[in-house]
Order: sequence, then structure tokens, then C-alpha cells
Amino acid sequence: MNQKIKLLTNTRIIDPFGETEYIENGYILIEDETIVKIGVGSAPKITVDTTIDLNGKTVIPGMINAHTHLYSALAMGMPAPKNTPTNFVEILQEIWWKLDLALDKDSTGASFEAGLLDCLHSGVTTVFDHHSSPNFANGSLELLSNITNKFGQNISIAFEITDRNGKENFNTGLQENINSFNKFKNNPYVHPLIGMHASFTLSNESLKTIYSELKGLQNWGIHIHVAEDEADERNAKSEGYESVVDRLNRFNLINKHSFIIHGIHSSDKDIALLKNARATLVHNPTSNANNRVGILSDEYISQLNAGLGTDGMRTNMLEEAQQGTLIRSSHLQGGEPSIDYLELLFKNNPEIASRAFGRKIGHLSAGNQADLAIYGYNPQTAITENNFAGHILFGLSNPNDVIVRGKYRIKNRKFTDVSERNIKANAQKQSQILWEKILNI
Ligand SMILES: [Zn+2]
Repeated sequence: MNQKIKLLTNTRIIDPFGETEYIENGYILIEDETIVKIGVGSAPKITVDTTIDLNGKTVIPGMINAHTHLYSALAMGMPAPKNTPTNFVEILQEIWWKLDLALDKDSTGASFEAGLLDCLHSGVTTVFDHHSSPNFANGSLELLSNITNKFGQNISIAFEITDRNGKENFNTGLQENINSFNKFKNNPYVHPLIGMHASFTLSNESLKTIYSELKGLQNWGIHIHVAEDEADERNAKSEGYESVVDRLNRFNLINKHSFIIHGIHSSDKDIALLKNARATLVHNPTSNANNRVGILSDEYISQLNAGLGTDGMRTNMLEEAQQGTLIRSSHLQGGEPSIDYLELLFKNNPEIASRAFGRKIGHLSAGNQADLAIYGYNPQTAITENNFAGHILFGLSNPNDVIVRGKYRIKNRKFTDVSERNIKANAQKQSQILWEKILNI
């Protein structure tokens, strides 16, 4: 038998929205990659390969980022754009479309490694990535899958198809998605989606081509920015459609595997259509605030049980939940109800990841993939079954240890099997080259 049985004892277990939300002192039994039992008090007397006494440390589920861009990992601290953007489309033109054009194989690889490293340090064990590197398209998703395999996380891959770099580039992007879909569709740790940048950078002819290439495949789904800014809606209307969602739907591109990102300027009718199609909606509050594009309504979040993503802004999901809470509060009057961002993170995201990967992900209960974020957390106030939400939102940050699929990947804040120093040194070198190139675009 290759299976390894690992027993974690003497631990506080917090699983918001899980079967058992709080255990003051308990144990977690892991067999190979899966949690097989969780319980109160001392562990059952069984033979195990390893017993680890967590000495009262706090365990929460490994977290899921439902939408991000690892390609932007080297953007931190980059020089300001030559021309100051004055609206959303200019932010894309002046910053992100220059960054993605400048990426080559080396800088893309360095971005993936640095981004995934940061994710693990934040206790994020499943990542839905939306990738763009127009000058290094062919093989980029395989590179991401290979690098993620070293770190141990689950990864959803997609390459942003767009018209903005010409016909040949559109075709290369489409082919990269289809090749990766076929290559990884049966890999349990890789969920391939068909990436599209946004409706406003794709012509009717391109949408038609995408559908005609996809319709022979099984269980394909798109991953696309929708109605992030009013400009996207204006474009769809100028093409004679009611909305972006209406436009995508008329080209048969919406289905239950679709990942619809943002949806801020969508209509009630669009949300009803997405709900009926059982599509996934993902909310990215800090990115929306940063780009000043508006705020997704409470109603749309609730109706579609929206997931939570960071849209490349950061890797720490607890910070995203905390800042999402504060951003929304700043739009409210005293006493008005708000959205529970922990519900997005610990209920909706696990449902989304479990649907996508076809097994239980994101909770601390039997049958779930054994993904754990472990904290040496000793706050100034007691943690109880009644107040753990406050501690998660305002107390926890980066975990001390992270277990992915039953294996320690971070121990005492250090990587167990990848050289962090080499990854950082390479990322710093590649970021300098990348920033030089951006200035010349
Ligand atoms: Zn995005």
C-alpha cells in the first residue's frame, strides 16, 4: 500500500459553513490525499504512519481563489505608466496590455512561480487562473500546470483570447486553450477552461469562431471578464445586443461550466439567465475598488452564490474578504445589512471548486481533499464557537504551516521542497527585464 495515514492531534479546528464549524480541541485523520475523519478530543487508537501534535494550533481549510492573474505577480512596484489613465479602458491600455505584451517565457515562468509561492504562503491551495502573455501563448498553460505541480496546488488554467493583437494572435490563443483542454481534461489537479479576455475585445466573427471550435468538445466552459466596466456593456449594445451576457449567450457560449467574472453592470435579466444556465459568478471587490468601476450588488451576489477572487490584486484571501467587507461598508448607511464575505470564501468558493474539480474541496470533513492552513494563533481575546468569524476576518493572516493534498508544503513559514531564495532571486531579475520592456511598448 502506498497510502500514508497521518494523524494531526491537539488542534483547534475551524471550518466556517462546514459540517462541524468549531472544535476547541480535536484531531484530523488524513489518508493519502484525503481527510477521512475529524473528531473531538483525543484520537482513536489506530495504527498510523505519522502522528503530529499541533500543540493547540488553529486549523482552517486551505483556501480557494476563484479568479486571479498570476501573470501580474511581477507588477508589484513597477514604474508608473507613461500616460496617466483616466478611465478603465485606459488602465488596461496603459498598464495591463503593456505588461502582458512584454511577457516572454522566462518572465511568465517567474511570474507563475512567484505568484504560486505567495498563494501557498497565504494558505491558498486552489487557484483559478486567467492567463495572458500574447507573445508567449503556445505552451504557456502547460508551463503553468507543470510549475503548479511542483507546488502541489489545484490549478484552473485558461488563456485570454482577444482580437486586440491581430488575427494570428487570436488563433494562437484559441489553439492554446483547446490544446490545453484536451491535454488536461482528465488530470484531477488541473481544470482547463476556455479563457476569453472580454466581450469588448472580441468581434462577432471571433465569437462565432470560438464556438465552432468548441462545440465538438465535451464539458467545456469559458472564463471571461463580463460587464466589469460600463464600456463593455456599451460595446455589446453598439453591436445590437441587449447586454454582454445576451451577446455571449447568442453565440452559445454560456453554460453551466462558465466562469463569469465581475458582472457589475449586468442587468436583472442577465443574472436570471446566468442562474438558469447554472453559470459561476465571481466577485473581486478590491480590484473593482482599485479600478473604480463600481460595486457588485448584494442581490446578484446572493442570487448566484458568487465566489470570491482577487483578480491579481493579492494572494491572501482573508485580506480580500476583510477589505471586501470594508469597501462595501463604505457604501452603506448605519444599520443597513451587508454581504458576509466569509460566506463567499468558505461556502461559495468550496462549492465552486468542488464542482470544477469533481471532488470535495475546501472543507475540513471526511471525504474532502486534505488542504489545511495551520496557524500558531494566540490572540489577546478568547476564541470560541460563537466568535471565530471575527478572529478569521480580523486576526488571522498568513499561516505557519500549509498542507496540500495531505503533504506539508510549508512548515514554519518555509517551503519544504522548493528553493524560495532561487524563486525570489529569479523573479527580481525577470521583473527588471520586464519593466524595461514595458517602458518601450
Ligand atoms: Zn481578471
